[in-house]
Amino acid sequence: MLNKNSHRFQRIRKPIVISTAILFHLLLIFHLLFSPVIIVSAAYKGIINASFIAFSIIILLSLFFGRAYCSWFCPGCGIQEIMSSFVKKKSKNSKALFIKYLIFAIWIGFIITGYIIHGFQKIDLTYGMLDVTFERKIILTLGAIVLTVPLTALFGQYASCKYICWQAPFMIIGTKIRDYFQLRGLRLKAEPEQCETCNICNAKCPMNIDVMANVINNKMNNAECILCGNCIDSCNHNVITFSIAKH
Ligand code: SF4
Ligand code: SF4
Repeated sequence: MLNKNSHRFQRIRKPIVISTAILFHLLLIFHLLFSPVIIVSAAYKGIINASFIAFSIIILLSLFFGRAYCSWFCPGCGIQEIMSSFVKKKSKNSKALFIKYLIFAIWIGFIITGYIIHGFQKIDLTYGMLDVTFERKIILTLGAIVLTVPLTALFGQYASCKYICWQAPFMIIGTKIRDYFQLRGLRLKAEPEQCETCNICNAKCPMNIDVMANVINNKMNNAECILCGNCIDSCNHNVITFSIAKH
């Protein structure tokens, strides 16, 4: 039996996130705006640049939306989504998940040190973005593709999001802060007693989360959940829904 809501959210989400990927790569601005390098350079000159604002907005949004940005708007996820049409293997939830936290800790350490040494001296939203040659933009964009595509091909769907994304910890930290203070926000909600333990939600989760176990234990908060809604769309018994709640 097909769920009457089958693909309800995916029909909206996939075109959005794939369009974001194509648009940002064509415009060649994403890898400058979210560059992990330019913000370090800005920090050591005491400049608040566009990346500083962009990363701040991401962490603020995560206080309400959790990791929804990842699956609905991140161009990197858009590439993963396209790759998922070809790569069916799921990436493992192994110790490799912690690599992204290590990358994040080293990177954020450099940024904080820079601003501690030089302070906030001025705001320059175009810093590092205007004086970039077309060739360098191409290298940056291709670099992102070279980072994500082989990882996904080798280790499975969404491997780069899970293992190396330097933005994911921002949202995971934001979500943890929200949960700690029991703030209202976008979450998954489950009705465990309606679950028929069919395992379809597990098969459909691109992050390879054990969704069924989370449903049965009524613990839907998972740091790797990107709120894509695949589990909601796939459940024939409408067990899982999006909810705006405190926990
Ligand atoms: S939540 Fe839905 S899809 Fe997942 S195991 Fe239960 S009934 Fe099946
Ligand atoms: S648990 Fe559901 S919403 Fe979260 S990543 Fe998996 S399929 Fe997407």
